[in-house]
Amino acid sequence: LALRAHDKGLELACHVKPDVPDGVLGDPGRLRQILVNLISNAIKFTEKGEIVTRVSLESKNGGWVNLRFSVADTGIGIPEDRQEAIFHAFEQADISTTREYGGTGLGLAISSQLVDLMSGKLRLESEEGKGTTFFFNLKLKLSDIEKVEPSELSDLTNMRVLVVDDNSTNRFIQEELLTQWDMSPVVVDSAQAGMAALQ
Ligand code: ADP
Repeated sequence: LALRAHDKGLELACHVKPDVPDGVLGDPGRLRQILVNLISNAIKFTEKGEIVTRVSLESKNGGWVNLRFSVADTGIGIPEDRQEAIFHAFEQADISTTREYGGTGLGLAISSQLVDLMSGKLRLESEEGKGTTFFFNLKLKLSDIEKVEPSELSDLTNMRVLVVDDNSTNRFIQEELLTQWDMSPVVVDSAQAGMAALQ
C-alpha cells in the first residue's frame, strides 16, 4: 500500500492512540482484509493529500474493549445519494459510462459483511471534493498481554530527539509516540528548521 501511495505522492499515516491495549483477541486476518480494502480504496480515490488510519479506545469494561477503527482520506468524496448503495455488491458511486476508475464494486460489500460478522457496523462520512472517512467499532476481549513494556524503556527516558517531517499529521503522531516513551521530542516541519533546532 505504501508503494502505491508513494507513487501518487500521498502521505500514508497510521495513528494508534497510546491507550489502545497491545493485546486483544480477535481475527487479525479478517481485520487486515477490511483495512487493506479501505486503505486501497482511499489511495485509489485520492489524488492529493493524505490517508490516515486511526485506532482509538472508546471504552473498556470487565476484560473487554471497544475499539474504533477509521480510515480517512482527502479524496473525491462520495455523493450523499450514493453513500448507502456502495455497500451493496457491484455498486459504485459513479455509474456513468465515463467513469474513470476500474474495480468490481465488491470490496465494500465484503468488508461490511466481515464487520457485521464481528458484530460491528461499517459506516462512512463524506463530503464531495473534500474526502471520506470509513469507520467501525469492534468489541474485543483483552488478552493477557494488555500492555507490552519495552525492556529498555528507561534508556530512553528524557532522551532528546529531533523529528523533521513536513506532514503535520505525522508530526503529531511522532510527538505523541515519543512522549509516551518518556522521550523529549523537538518536532519541526522543514530541514531548515531542523538545522536551526540542532544549532
Ligand atoms: P470498487 O473499488 O472495486 O469499485 P468497492 O466496493 O471497494 O468496489 O467500492 C465501491 C465504490 O465506492 C467505488 O467504486 C467508489 O465509487 C466508492 N468508494 C469506495 N471507497 C471510496 C473512497 N475512499 N472515496 C471515494 N469513493 C469511494
